[in-house]
Amino acid sequence: MRLCYRLRAMSKKIAVESPSPCIKCTKSWCCTYFTQQIDTPRSREDFDVLLWQISHENTEAYKDDDGWFLLMTNPCNHLLPNGDCGIYEVRPKICRDHSSDNCEKDGLAGEQDFKLYFKDYTALRKYCKKKFKKWDRWEKKKK
Ligand code: SF4
Ligand code: SF4
Repeated sequence: MRLCYRLRAMSKKIAVESPSPCIKCTKSWCCTYFTQQIDTPRSREDFDVLLWQISHENTEAYKDDDGWFLLMTNPCNHLLPNGDCGIYEVRPKICRDHSSDNCEKDGLAGEQDFKLYFKDYTALRKYCKKKFKKWDRWEKKKK
């Protein structure tokens, strides 16, 4: 399954003419997770891979208007306790490009936007059993 980075991520500050909401945002939600787009899973084998991926700690999966994504809810190692970026001067471009317009602080990147959402292995496997006939049998016999 091919993986590619999704340009929905982080960045902070940069106050221009009007004060940036990032200045008051001590939680820095945008620095506490990242997403990775995946090819649309179609076959049993595709979902078997996705079950393996979602089995890892703090890994969820969802589908929205843009496709399928893995959601890793791990904070960035450079995020300081006060919400500042510890490597602000050399932070990655993806962080610099992130806008506070409609950002996570406004609750627009949440579960309510997902067409499908799988919190964990159990939720995804339940979906697989519903989607594929004889999933249980296939699951036990796969080589
Ligand atoms: S969550 Fe929004 S307001 Fe907070 S730091 Fe990130 S972009 Fe700025
Ligand atoms: S590098 Fe800085 S701005 Fe980018 S995610 Fe980490 S803490 Fe946030």
